[in-house]
Parts: sequence; C-alpha cells; structure tokens
Amino acid sequence: MMDHANWMPRIAHSICIGCGECIALCPTGALGQREGKANLIAPSLCTYCAACESVCPVNAIELPYLVVLVNSSHREES
Ligand code: SF4
Ligand code: SF4
Repeated sequence: MMDHANWMPRIAHSICIGCGECIALCPTGALGQREGKANLIAPSLCTYCAACESVCPVNAIELPYLVVLVNSSHREES
C-alpha cells in the first residue's frame, strides 16, 4: 500500500462548521459530509489539489504535504 496516509488533507472537526464549501469544490469527490462535518470519504481520489484548504472559511483543513515540501528544501544542508 502507498504510504501517504499522513499526506491526506486533515479536517479539524472541532473547527469545521459544516458549510459544505470544500465538498462542493473538491474536483474529485474525495470529500463528503458526515454528521454535519466534512470528511475525507474517498482518500484514494484525492489529488492534493489544495482547493479544499483554500476555500474553507474557518481554516479547518490542513494539507500536511505542503509543510513537507517547504521543509525538504532545508535537508540539502546536511
Ligand atoms: S486536496 Fe483537492 S482533491 Fe483532495 S480533498 Fe481537497 S479539494 Fe479534494
Ligand atoms: S469548507 Fe471548512 S468549514 Fe466548510 S465543510 Fe469544509 S472543512 Fe468544514
């Protein structure tokens, strides 16, 4: 299996207000709503486009891979 579970969009359910904007915008249908909160219902469909992260009005979505890419530029120093 691909080891990219930690790279999936993380949705903070304590912050999410269930507006549904990320679900409507997600081009691949990876997101869905469960119990009034956004959820990554089909992780394999996610292309890390970051549209959901950009649209969320309360910044409940975080794409960890963006941090990884930034940090990788420092690894060449070692
Ligand atoms: S990063 Fe893009 S494809 Fe993945 S869940 Fe968000 S909007 Fe959908
Ligand atoms: S856009 Fe943000 S607040 Fe709205 S459903 Fe998605 S994660 Fe929740």
